[in-house]
Amino acid sequence: MKDGPNQFQRRRKVDLQAQLEAASRPVWRILNRVLLGHDVTQAQGTTLFQAQGADITAICATADSLRQKVNEDRVSFVVNRNINFTNVCYMGCRFCGFAKRKEDAAAEWLEPHQVAERAQQAWDRGATEVCIQGGLHPKMPATTYRDIILAIKARLPDMHIHAFSPFEVWYGATKMGLSYRDFLTDLKECGLGSMPGTAAEILDTEVRQKLTKNKLSAAQWVEIIRTAHQVGIPTTATIMYGHVDGPTHWAAHIALLRDIQRDTGGFTELVPLSFVHTESPLYTQDPKNVRPGPTSNEVDLMHAVSRIMLHGYIDNIQVSWTKLGPAHAQDMLFRGVNDLGGTLMNESISRSAGADHGQEITALELCQIIRAAGRIPVRRNTTYKVIDVYDDHDPAPLAPLVARQNKDPLDFLRMFPEASA
Ligand code: SF4
Repeated sequence: MKDGPNQFQRRRKVDLQAQLEAASRPVWRILNRVLLGHDVTQAQGTTLFQAQGADITAICATADSLRQKVNEDRVSFVVNRNINFTNVCYMGCRFCGFAKRKEDAAAEWLEPHQVAERAQQAWDRGATEVCIQGGLHPKMPATTYRDIILAIKARLPDMHIHAFSPFEVWYGATKMGLSYRDFLTDLKECGLGSMPGTAAEILDTEVRQKLTKNKLSAAQWVEIIRTAHQVGIPTTATIMYGHVDGPTHWAAHIALLRDIQRDTGGFTELVPLSFVHTESPLYTQDPKNVRPGPTSNEVDLMHAVSRIMLHGYIDNIQVSWTKLGPAHAQDMLFRGVNDLGGTLMNESISRSAGADHGQEITALELCQIIRAAGRIPVRRNTTYKVIDVYDDHDPAPLAPLVARQNKDPLDFLRMFPEASA
């Protein structure tokens, strides 16, 4: 085991004071108020998101200090599997590189029993969760969502089912002719455990018009999420950034999530999702007006300012290693992040959109990444209950479910061995 945490803690204390002193007065004032326990207003959030130079360093140090206060040196992850039961979708979201037409050679459809088989494989590899999402297939039976849950639960009653974005809930409820409340209540009774708060993108009508022609409006997303929380289905919260958006949108989005959380307490974590541009029609058809994903500073600020704005409301800030890759994801552990998400086993949405990181990082590899940052790896369940603390032992080694085509996710630790000293 490494003896890193104490060294990291000592350095951080000194650094925070020095970095606050180096910040501009407006940012210094906001950060001091935060450290005294005050909420950041939406306008102050915009100021933080617009930061440059020494201000960014001070914001990241403040976020790291809040993370330390709330989560201490523990960094969590969940052993799960992503299952995309179909990639057929006609919604035409312009940022999406995942959707196929049903006649396409690469179109996929899994019957509920096939989804359950994949869930069984995940269970046999120690997973406690399956994360299930799919396209909005025009011909899918209205009962598909409940059928998938029932098929998994019949085989694996203890598997946590984390499934169906608000867009899918909108689609399923519409197809069934049910209110969101009745549709979600039924899914919960079938065995749905929680929902991904994806399809949020940026909760702003003008931006959504450009991304998705506003097919699922911000108001509908909020209504579905609030309803899920009210019927006892917790959800994650997400933001997809780095395309046609900017600091004012980000601050408004995070403030809105905070308002929802204040009322419902139903968010388990925030997961910032950086826009992956390479295969995305939004970018490839209009590269002059669409940004190719966030800059490195914006990635830092998104994780750090989210931690700061959500302090006292959402305690878990997760980094998406599928979007950023393992090395960049590890950096975020110093910018307010306390969770590395899941092992995933298969992940195809980011890969379809051009990211080359999605597939699987095993529990043992996640532990190595976490320890190399001087933190203590913790295995959790979907709702952040601790399953195991790896302070003096390791998870069992396991070969990846799908043979890796790309490089070893731990290459960066071997290239810079001093990072794990
Ligand atoms: S983002 Fe989802 S809803 Fe939109 S086109 Fe892609 S698969 Fe369909």
